[in-house]
Amino acid sequence: MTLVKKYFIFENVKKLKGVGPTLSKYLKVRKIEKIKDIILNLPYSETDRSQISNINELEAGKIQTIKVVVKKLNFPRIKNLPNTIQCEDETGKIDISYFNSFEGYLRKIYPLNQIVIISGKVGYFKNKLKITNPDYVTPIENRGYVVKNIPKYKLTKGINEKKYRFISEQIIENLPKIEDWLDEDFKRKNKLMNWNEAIKRLHNSDDSKNKKSISYRRLVFDEICANFITLSENRKRLKRKKISKQINKNFQKKIISHLPFSLTDSQEKVLKEINSDLKSDERMFRILQGDVGSGKTIISLLTIANVISDGYQCALMTPTEILSQQHFKLAKKIFENYNINIEFLSGKTDSKKRKEILKKIYNGKIDFLIGTHALFQKKIDFQNLGFVVIDEQHKFGVKQRSDLAKKGGKNCDVLLMSATPIPRTMMMSLYGDMDISKITEKPSVRKKIITLSKPEKKINELWTFLKEQIEKKNQIFWVCPLIQGSKFLDYSSANEKFEIINKKFPGKVGLIHGSLEKEVKDEVLKNFLNKKISILVSTTVIEVGIDFPNANLIIIENANKFGLSQLHQLRGRVGRSDKQGICILLFKDGLSKNAIKRIKILKESEDGFFIAEEDLKLRGFGDLTGYQQSGEKNFRFADPFVHDDLFKMAENLIFNINKEINHKKYHFLLKLFDKAEIINSNED
Ligand code: ADP
Ligand code: MG
Repeated sequence: MTLVKKYFIFENVKKLKGVGPTLSKYLKVRKIEKIKDIILNLPYSETDRSQISNINELEAGKIQTIKVVVKKLNFPRIKNLPNTIQCEDETGKIDISYFNSFEGYLRKIYPLNQIVIISGKVGYFKNKLKITNPDYVTPIENRGYVVKNIPKYKLTKGINEKKYRFISEQIIENLPKIEDWLDEDFKRKNKLMNWNEAIKRLHNSDDSKNKKSISYRRLVFDEICANFITLSENRKRLKRKKISKQINKNFQKKIISHLPFSLTDSQEKVLKEINSDLKSDERMFRILQGDVGSGKTIISLLTIANVISDGYQCALMTPTEILSQQHFKLAKKIFENYNINIEFLSGKTDSKKRKEILKKIYNGKIDFLIGTHALFQKKIDFQNLGFVVIDEQHKFGVKQRSDLAKKGGKNCDVLLMSATPIPRTMMMSLYGDMDISKITEKPSVRKKIITLSKPEKKINELWTFLKEQIEKKNQIFWVCPLIQGSKFLDYSSANEKFEIINKKFPGKVGLIHGSLEKEVKDEVLKNFLNKKISILVSTTVIEVGIDFPNANLIIIENANKFGLSQLHQLRGRVGRSDKQGICILLFKDGLSKNAIKRIKILKESEDGFFIAEEDLKLRGFGDLTGYQQSGEKNFRFADPFVHDDLFKMAENLIFNINKEINHKKYHFLLKLFDKAEIINSNED
């Protein structure tokens, strides 16, 4: 057996024997393109072909293996009749049938009066057991290839077990000899397996089903390390030297003194952290986390003011037009009496105006540009951009972050703001390249939101309550899990609910969901903001931070469908003023223990960070909404819930050691997890 060359595994699967254009297309369906993808495609189970059964013991419906003598081959010349081979052992006879087969081939693999091993699913036909198109037929000398437990992979049309095995064994049985990136000492101390050994075991045992098996843990550790190295390298590149900014405390003080409120301690703290980054001679790359309504916007505006007063341009971008406009309005108000030029730019800005704005940005005549994401992806040349703030950056992955920092230029500081609280274990893997600031308290004017739960069958009791609320000029969010009704899911849909509610309150109801055009969505949101409508029926699309201070009631249907963090975020849409916010969770009957616990937590706490931790505990990591929303699908194997200790171990290894990472040694690892490109793309 020769081991393949190390970098062979990064070649296209077509380099393997038996893989042509057609098969490679099928493999692609299962996301197998490079040879290394076969290594990472773990079996989900095993097929037991290890017992040789007597014919008289066979059971229909099972995959079984027999050892038989070939007695007779029949090749009927009638269309649609199968070719049949009669076989027997000491205990009985059995027919093996083939559809779509060639006589020559069958004669070759079924030599008359010879013993063969056959393995396949036993069927039943006309009162007799038989095997049709068996998976394996092999001479007795080769029994070892068939008579055993064979790994079972998720396959797809055009690839069967035998074919896939032929392909995968070429690499799994011949793994390249690598210089392990982990020291022997480290492995011994931390009970981590050798890489080769681990991969072999994962493919040849049921270790792959057990997230705690030592071979699986090795793969997980590698995956986490690859992820952390990427972040740590990203960080090094982002935190380069810059010209430090001068901050005029008086200007900031003046603005604060004109605010209708005073900052919370938490806000004061993060303000200091951001300002000290601005003053530092390394570029800022920071994420500001704070629950919905914790007051992140004003912090961004204050720090932007500082940068502008030092003579730089600033940009603030948001994911939606309406949020941009909200920020724009607020900025104009706050900077009213100072000589600061603010502009608003979005996809809707007409081209003449747009040109004008772009020119002014280029000439430095605009100090502060506010707009949507899409816009900043296009080329805008600033004269001297000093600070970019990105609000509600759910979908900003590592790659986008590094692209952004590159675009901003040498002296550009970057601040991301997010209302998605992330559990501690995941913080590092998501934001390991950034510094983190947290706003942990809410303005004290807020009243605690009243959270109620109600069985759905009592929905009729709600109509009078809604009527009262509308008469009081309160506004209402009504959230459904689906857009359209489904035959398969017993969930409420926004479309249907809109019809029902609109009949009860004609003309007072709006509908919004993800498959509407962006313009339509913005229009509906505007109508709600301007109080033209009282009830907004929606899916969860409008989770991001638009401020509707007049909406103080939210009703969430099928609340058990949502995760804790998501419910918390939805709830955060209300209670954003000094008015009392109310959240009503509608449930179907027969709640699980878990669901009851979730309601209890929600009723008791409004702390997003606490809720995120509880969410992780209750549902495990796969379902964690906050995590998914962050847009990072970094882990295929690692599960922060199960592998908490490995995350810590990797953190110590990658982040706490202040030595240069040996790129050569890790290159293979990074390529294995498709991270090498992210790192290389940062090279400039
Ligand atoms: P988010 O953190 O969700 O972006 P916002 O910045 O939109 O929150 O703030 C929500 C509301 O709270 C705004 O109306 C804002 O004016 C108000 N606000 C911010 N800070 C304070 C404070 N310290 N005291 C009272 N109200 C505040
Ligand atoms: Mg916000």
